[in-house]
Amino acid sequence: MAQAKRGEDFEKTKGSPDNFTGNVFIQNTGKVEEGATVLRVTFEKGAHTFWHKHTGRQVLYFLEGKGRVQLRGQEVINAVSGDVVQIPPNTDHWHGAHPEETDHMSHLAITSGELTWEEPVADGEYTAK
Ligand code: MN
Repeated sequence: MAQAKRGEDFEKTKGSPDNFTGNVFIQNTGKVEEGATVLRVTFEKGAHTFWHKHTGRQVLYFLEGKGRVQLRGQEVINAVSGDVVQIPPNTDHWHGAHPEETDHMSHLAITSGELTWEEPVADGEYTAK
């Protein structure tokens, strides 16, 4: 039988300043299969992850606001509600609110594998046109 759980009932955990710039709130919305997590991540104005990679694939499904994703060495990708960005395994990248977003951006992060955190995103990279 299908189960419904209301959005406001998912506990919010604040992202660590060791891994994120700015205010980020993470809601674990459940596993879809062994090893795959489904997180709703909300980035307030100016917030974004540090560089990182996952040993498995990651799918980012954008829900609200304007966001950005960048794979190392590639042009930045801008994303809005309804857009889906696929991150290949073992690929350095970051994601977060678009620098011009004045409220917040939220996405679902559907992820498998282990996560390795790297260095903060340089300001010039974050705000690149
Ligand atoms: Mn990621």
